[in-house]
Amino acid sequence: MNNQLLREIPKVDDLLRSPALVSLCQNAPRSAVADAVRSVLAELRSSMLAGEAAALPDEAALAARVAECVKCACRPSLRRTINGTGVILHTNLGRACLAEAAAAAVAEVARGYSTLEYDVLTGGRGERYSHVEALLTSLTGAEAAFVVNNNAAAVLLILSALAEGGEVVASRGELVEIGGSFRVPEIMESCGARLREVGTTNKTHLSDYERAIGPDTRALMKVHTSNFRIVGFTESVPRAEMAALGHAHNLAVIEDLGSGSLLDLAQFGIQGEPTVQDSVRAGVDVISFSGDKLLGGPQAGIIIGKKQYIDRLKRHPLTRAMRVDKLTLAALEATLRLYASGTAFEQVPTLAMLAAKPETLFARAEALARALCAAGAEAEPVSVEDQVGGGSVPMQMLPSFAVSVSPAAGRSVEALEAALRLGEPPIIGRIDHGRYLLHVRTLREADFAAIANAWKEAAR
Ligand SMILES: *Cc1c(COP(=O)(O)O)cnc(C)c1O
Repeated sequence: MNNQLLREIPKVDDLLRSPALVSLCQNAPRSAVADAVRSVLAELRSSMLAGEAAALPDEAALAARVAECVKCACRPSLRRTINGTGVILHTNLGRACLAEAAAAAVAEVARGYSTLEYDVLTGGRGERYSHVEALLTSLTGAEAAFVVNNNAAAVLLILSALAEGGEVVASRGELVEIGGSFRVPEIMESCGARLREVGTTNKTHLSDYERAIGPDTRALMKVHTSNFRIVGFTESVPRAEMAALGHAHNLAVIEDLGSGSLLDLAQFGIQGEPTVQDSVRAGVDVISFSGDKLLGGPQAGIIIGKKQYIDRLKRHPLTRAMRVDKLTLAALEATLRLYASGTAFEQVPTLAMLAAKPETLFARAEALARALCAAGAEAEPVSVEDQVGGGSVPMQMLPSFAVSVSPAAGRSVEALEAALRLGEPPIIGRIDHGRYLLHVRTLREADFAAIANAWKEAAR
């Protein structure tokens, strides 16, 4: 019986000649259609062998499966998703969402030629970093600024340029691992700098740094413990005291700030996140931070500080290997302009999501629940807590709302989660205590119709 069925499976070429597939080939590469035919037939064969398929699907059904397969193969791998996790800077989902102005600037510069390294005033060569340097210095109060591909690269460059062959003094309480094998002690080693650890996990005093300074010392380093907190009996040295100590010994004082917020986030209940300006004012010489964490811009490593040091970084050979591209610069310049014009809170999505008020979030949850109920689901707003994410401000939960959505009758919560995730665009939600939740802080109203539609599809 099985053998008889197996023999009836059409040949690839025969199926490709069927009218439905001939017309499909007019809209998609023939090779993609042929690959899809092969995989659909292979799947059919194995389900027959497993005794799951009792009959041969007709040609139209096979063609429909092939068309579905071609659609999947042709759609971009890197594509938009709907984030219902409530994690604002979700590293796996691309961290910060760009402001409209930043996305538009990227599109404009991407399509054609630009002033990337061209000075229209002189008609000669211009400077790649000039597009953001003045904005960065005026926003932060630093003397000079420049940008590399990400903050990990920035730290690597700073240590290589300022400390190679020498020692860097850092507190044991700040020797962090960021993830993806970026660990402060190992980075130092790879830069040819020696780490001189001082203090203990929970307490480091100024005198600990002072005692460690010797003829080989090149820098004192502070690392923002952005992804964990040591609580209880703790002490770390204020930046200004570290800066004064470093300067008294003619040493560079450097800081990896991690997230690098330009605005005080205490107004949203986020405590303990220093601003970039705080660090500059305290006298830290070289500061680096990410472009796509709390700043809400593109992936980038922003370096600001004293001109004498920034000039040394710019001249270092590694700089060329970490050079930012024009798309990053376009997005970063546009994002910084929103800060400069005082409209960042409304226009930069990361900040708008952070600043969203509970009543706004509740109204948004009600609107989503209504859209889902209209599609036939059972859905209701529930209280939840959101996270900033991206290794930023750990343990500080933002009170918020989600919509709890029930699966269609007879379906499981897991099946609902998978169906929405596998849809187009993928909708990423969370299962919590047996409930499927969509956190509304990271959702846009414009996506509600698509979410309701996806639920309907999943229920069929
Ligand atoms: C996130 C982070 C980094 C790495 O920044 P990327 O921009 O992701 O490369 C480095 N140091 C600290 C303290 C961080 O929080």
